Amino acid sequence: MEEELPIKQKHKRAPALALCAAVLCLAAACAPAQSGELTAALALIPLPNGKTEIGDGHITLPDPLVVDPGEFAPEFFEVYAQRAGIALSIEKDNLSFLRVSLDESLQPEGYRLRVTEQGIEIAAADEQGLCWALVSLAALTQDGGVPICEIEDAPYYTYRGFLMDSARHFFPVETIKALIELTSMVKMNAFHWHLTDDQGWRVESLRFPLLQEQNVIPGEYYTQEEIREVIEFARVRGVEVIPEIDLPGHATAIMAAYPALSCSEKAVRVADYPGIRSVILCAGKEAVFDLLYPLLEEMAALFPSPNFHLGGDEAPKVEWEKCPHCLRRMEEEGLAGVDELQGWFTARLARHLRGFGKRVTCWNESLLSEHLQEEIQDLRIEYWAEVHETGAVRRFWERGGGMIFAEEFAAHFDLPYGAISLKKVYNYRPAALGFKGADADKLPTLGLEACIWTEFVETEERLALLTFPRTYATAEAAWTRPDLREYGSFRGRLDLWLARYPGIGFTPPQEADLRFVKRIQNNAEFLRKLATALDKENPDNAGAGGRLHWRYLAHWIGNYFLY
Ligand SMILES: [Zn+2]
Repeated sequence: MEEELPIKQKHKRAPALALCAAVLCLAAACAPAQSGELTAALALIPLPNGKTEIGDGHITLPDPLVVDPGEFAPEFFEVYAQRAGIALSIEKDNLSFLRVSLDESLQPEGYRLRVTEQGIEIAAADEQGLCWALVSLAALTQDGGVPICEIEDAPYYTYRGFLMDSARHFFPVETIKALIELTSMVKMNAFHWHLTDDQGWRVESLRFPLLQEQNVIPGEYYTQEEIREVIEFARVRGVEVIPEIDLPGHATAIMAAYPALSCSEKAVRVADYPGIRSVILCAGKEAVFDLLYPLLEEMAALFPSPNFHLGGDEAPKVEWEKCPHCLRRMEEEGLAGVDELQGWFTARLARHLRGFGKRVTCWNESLLSEHLQEEIQDLRIEYWAEVHETGAVRRFWERGGGMIFAEEFAAHFDLPYGAISLKKVYNYRPAALGFKGADADKLPTLGLEACIWTEFVETEERLALLTFPRTYATAEAAWTRPDLREYGSFRGRLDLWLARYPGIGFTPPQEADLRFVKRIQNNAEFLRKLATALDKENPDNAGAGGRLHWRYLAHWIGNYFLY
């Protein structure tokens, strides 16, 4: 590219002002400009947290781009080359055009990116810092050119996750990779993979192959080889793959293969409908642990992440209350009720996983057990809805427990745009019952997660429409400091981002914040679908009575106003 960029003012000011100026540049990019192409590259999502100076002009990258990777492995740069569409040559050479150094004085995952006439310099705190520097560089690279710039950046939250539910509806490896690529490009660092549920077992077990063989549609699972391929694909993009094996509820796929592991031992089949099933794993029988111990050991070895999600949500304990095995267990262990029994069950598995170097995460229902919190001090909790409203989440958070926020009406993108607008996702601030605004900001929070549950998501097109652009709003809410976030600025950058990275598809942003009447229609459509699905003839389904509870419906109605 020979022609010069239209000259932008040089920014030599305080970081906040420089940021405003950068945003102004972006606003200018929205207007029809002669150099639209390259200017669009300045539309970074998420907005950086530190100095962001975009100077005059741009440089043309040499072909091939010679890179000295410093202490880092070459594969990270190969990802950049693919994204930027350029050729690369890795050489340990001081004359390299792109030079990288490790700078441990930077915040974790932090980086500094400097583009001058003389070349590109990256300083990174760690491997992830390098990944995010290269993500920014890729977003700035267009047609082999990069603007002269200097960016200093580090994330606000340490955990920035995306949950994919591959259990309810199965999606091929290529879709999984596309999701990881798109979320990595907005600097999300965790791919939470919901792999098992009532509707299927989606990860190959070599020790218990009956699990994946029970699936309604044969072959709808990921082989261990495919899982390893996805983990490596994610790793070189700065993303940790965290498996979720949901226990003891949402586990029909296990009991369809091994019916003796429920309390009642009645035959169940893998569900082909959504909802919550009342048949869960028995907590009293040792046979359950005889299966889960080696199974979790196998899964722990397959996934290198130090984190392991054990689910623990929506586990109706009607069977536990009358099961002689469960009753005996409670008596022997001195447990005060079925919620404590669930905590005991989870704590036992968490201790087992600790033996393989894993730290356990659970959904917030697990906090109904004091036993679990006493036994597993490093427990991480993912908040989705305080269904029982005992204040347990608030107490855990106040004590400094590790909290990840994925609140249903702000982060569960299977819900329609009528319930969760793009703006609401963007402006989300972590809060739990009894907490608001500034108070919550003082508490330690690991981060945010966007979730796509797939009960009603059958095609990739639908998946894309619901996931994007809302996930981009979560990404910025998780990365960018709250005082720098401004919805108008995000919307301006988002249009440019979507034009550049259409990915697997998205809902046009102008259709992602609905007017009142449209919202009602949109929600009614979804609720009708939900009610129909839960009304299906499925006697095991505890969902119709549970989820469509008056409190749940009240939440929905509240959302017409909190939009
Ligand atoms: Zn039992």
